Amino acid sequence: MEVVFPDLGRWAPGSGNLPYVWRFASDRPGPHVVVQALTHGNEVCGAIALDWLLGAAFRPARGTFTAVFANVDAYQLFDPAEPFASRCVDEDFNRLWTDDVLDGPRTSTELARARALRQVYDAADYLLDLHSMTDACLPLALAGRQRKGLELALALGVPAHIVVDAGHAAGKRLRDYAFFDDPEDPRNALLVECGQHWERAAPEVARQATLRFLRHFGMIEPAFLDEHLDPQPLPPQRAIEVTEVLTIETDSFAFATPAFGLDVLPKGGTLLARDGDRDVFTPYDDCVLIMPTRRPRRGETAVRLGRFVS
Ligand SMILES: [Zn+2]
Repeated sequence: MEVVFPDLGRWAPGSGNLPYVWRFASDRPGPHVVVQALTHGNEVCGAIALDWLLGAAFRPARGTFTAVFANVDAYQLFDPAEPFASRCVDEDFNRLWTDDVLDGPRTSTELARARALRQVYDAADYLLDLHSMTDACLPLALAGRQRKGLELALALGVPAHIVVDAGHAAGKRLRDYAFFDDPEDPRNALLVECGQHWERAAPEVARQATLRFLRHFGMIEPAFLDEHLDPQPLPPQRAIEVTEVLTIETDSFAFATPAFGLDVLPKGGTLLARDGDRDVFTPYDDCVLIMPTRRPRRGETAVRLGRFVS
């Protein structure tokens, strides 16, 4: 645990009628940009970045900026003895984003918050959703399946790796909600996985991604950028297209190789994992392993497989 969880209590009132939601409008016209932390309660990097940005009294140079601490109920349950438990209270906030779920009869802590926050996303032009990963991995942008998502990730310049994927069978992600996933609609969203949940580097990745996101939309004064934007030259970005998601089917799943995030297995047909009686082989040469799990559990994703497309 290399990071300190900030006390977010000072942001509880919100600027309007939603707790932990702060909206600032410039006199100059411009887009409405939403930056969100805590879609998952134990992914603290985004909360550190937004706590800093709000604490620095950031105001948009044009348009409207909204900062959202989403699943604060889960965040407040964080227990260092059980750090993975506070990802959510009842269910994953990031699997709820279809009309049938949001408008349906089901209730949960996360659904109540999602229904309250929906108006924020409905009013947004652009959304940056800040996350982190269970296992150590270089930062990743999750750009969704539309060309516009990839273009937005490339426009930011960070992170170096961009994953083009369709999300989860278990439910739609916020970044794929409604118009964000419509190729004809200019509104756009990007999810950034800033590193491992509690590694020292992740909050700075979140902060730099946020600054670049706001800069891209002309929302930051140059002096604020000069003071805070990392001036180091960036490595070129590469895009990885996810071709399949390997779901764990039994209680005896194990990778056949030491599997780390963004490992590339050069030969197609290499034994990748054993899942009960099933042997799983890499489907093609230069197969990239995206977010392989260290805690395999039946029904969950073991790894996404993809290939470099740029
Ligand atoms: Zn997450």
